[in-house]
Amino acid sequence: MDVPTYSASDAAVPDGVVVIERASSAQDLGPRLNRTAADVVRFLLTNGEMVAATQSLSDDMIRLFAAEIGADIRLVNPGEEQEVELRRVLEIEDDYDDEIIESWPNRPPVITIMGHVDHGKTLLLDRIRSANVVAGEAGGITQHIGAYQVEQDGHVLTFIDTPGHAAFTAMRARGAEATDVVVLVVAADDGVMPQTLEALAHARAADVPIVVAVNKMDREGADPDRVMSQLAERGLIPEAWGGDTLFIRVSAMTGDGIDELLDSLNVVAEVEDLRATPEGRAAGVVLEANLDIGRGPVATVLVERGTLRVGDPLVTGAAWGRVRAIINDRGENVMSAGPSTPVQVLGLSDVASSGDSFVVAPNEKIAGKVADTREHWLRVASLGRDASATSGGAKLEDFFKQIQAGEAATLNLIVKADVNGSLEAVTDSLRKLERDDVKLAFVLRGVGGISENDVQLAATSNSTILGFNVRPDRKARELAEAEKVEIRNYEIIYNLLEDIENAMLGLLAPEYEEVVTGEAQVREVFRVPRVGAIAGCYVLNGTITRNSKVRFLREGTIIWKGEIQSLRRFKDDAASVASGFECGIGLSDFQDLKDGDIIETFEERLIPVK
Ligand code: GDP
Repeated sequence: MDVPTYSASDAAVPDGVVVIERASSAQDLGPRLNRTAADVVRFLLTNGEMVAATQSLSDDMIRLFAAEIGADIRLVNPGEEQEVELRRVLEIEDDYDDEIIESWPNRPPVITIMGHVDHGKTLLLDRIRSANVVAGEAGGITQHIGAYQVEQDGHVLTFIDTPGHAAFTAMRARGAEATDVVVLVVAADDGVMPQTLEALAHARAADVPIVVAVNKMDREGADPDRVMSQLAERGLIPEAWGGDTLFIRVSAMTGDGIDELLDSLNVVAEVEDLRATPEGRAAGVVLEANLDIGRGPVATVLVERGTLRVGDPLVTGAAWGRVRAIINDRGENVMSAGPSTPVQVLGLSDVASSGDSFVVAPNEKIAGKVADTREHWLRVASLGRDASATSGGAKLEDFFKQIQAGEAATLNLIVKADVNGSLEAVTDSLRKLERDDVKLAFVLRGVGGISENDVQLAATSNSTILGFNVRPDRKARELAEAEKVEIRNYEIIYNLLEDIENAMLGLLAPEYEEVVTGEAQVREVFRVPRVGAIAGCYVLNGTITRNSKVRFLREGTIIWKGEIQSLRRFKDDAASVASGFECGIGLSDFQDLKDGDIIETFEERLIPVK
């Protein structure tokens, strides 16, 4: 009888394809393939690889071992397998038979407006909206929630209220195909421009029908024929010329042609025969999300199928919650929302990510569990990504040196912002600064204050932290100091971009540094007649000085900036109050403080040019 060449157990390997996560350790891998961790370690040793049982294995090592024992495996990224499992738990079905789809009612088309800057996207969206507010509501409150619906000849149309292709591509990058029709706006007096072509490319890539709105027809130099021939050259042949693209002449300024544009959109929607079932649990996509002081996390979602109801347990990414309220695009509270309807949802545990899908879970317990599992895997996956993003990157000071030495350089960044919208805007704008020889790597992008974890990550990944409308908490600041991690805070996107651009050019202008001088925690808020709100505080750090500049932070996010009006210790006015003491801080026009908020005082100091 043959003697095995190494002493792995000889149990049969599992049948079929075994899904293995990348970066599994011997301890994870062995049991999945009916082997022990020791089998794996021993085998790798005979192949010249010395690894501990808990150490992550490379793809090659995992494949080598599987091949050795004759197991069929598929390597997946961490979280991928769980996601498939979660979809099963949530009972999400993607593929329906045509027969079933045909039994569903039609739904409104979802329309995105794209085109070159200044060609009139925003004005067109505003015009469509104001001209078609449901009758009887003239003068009624309309609220910008990121999307709206209008009615034309009894047909409802849904417009995504963020013009431009940035939002569109951000969604697609996350796999959301929310748009059914693209309106390509081209100014008749300007013709096809670079972003017109970019928008066209995006719409084509998404394989959605395009309606061209030839705008600014009221302008003197309007030349719609030129627009038609320019686009015909790119394959958008006007109907009038035997093609199948609708070109509608409009003026967002005067309102001319808007009705015709809406009619055309209805025609296109009809051809597309868009259907969805209003039955069952809702599923859809998050259009926008932010943290609202007072209301908590708010998400604008587009229901794609089913009906979303108040009280539903909703999950999106790692956020979840029972839907506390649904608000429509007119600012009205509603009890439910059906397919193609955009609504704001309150009640989530966390700020959702735009472009993420959402689904209503069978029950609250499952919703919570799914969100927890996702959070865990997001963390694992982001750690994996960090490692690759950081290799070879540098932090700001080394970055200058590399550039000055004429070397190709990569700047590692961690970007934290107050809301998803600004986070996307900051990263998109930063990306545009990249050149062949100077690259940016985003180690982490996230919403919320700058935490100790962020600083830790920055330290291990050689990153610079950029905060936009957020602040580091005390622990994060202390750790940053100890670890020599640079944190740069901004409230104006232009300043942020300018700094990074200057850094990329190898020059950094002298700048002011905000030095935190004191930090107090709000313990109780008193309302004093004629004076306003007085915050009873405890000074945690440094010294609080009267007339110093302050900002108020709630969970690391800046909620207000201004000056202290009055400072009292017991009943007496005080010039300053040191750490460890209680005090009363009077605030001029900001009244919305709560227990637990942090009042931070700061000074601006000039940083000497190096
Ligand atoms: P966006 O960058 O594509 O969103 O463009 P905007 O909607 O902000 O419009 C850019 C400028 O063009 C604004 O000053 C508008 O008032 C103007 N504009 C937009 N549409 C028209 C139009 O149909 N006629 C004229 N005369 N001006 C327009």
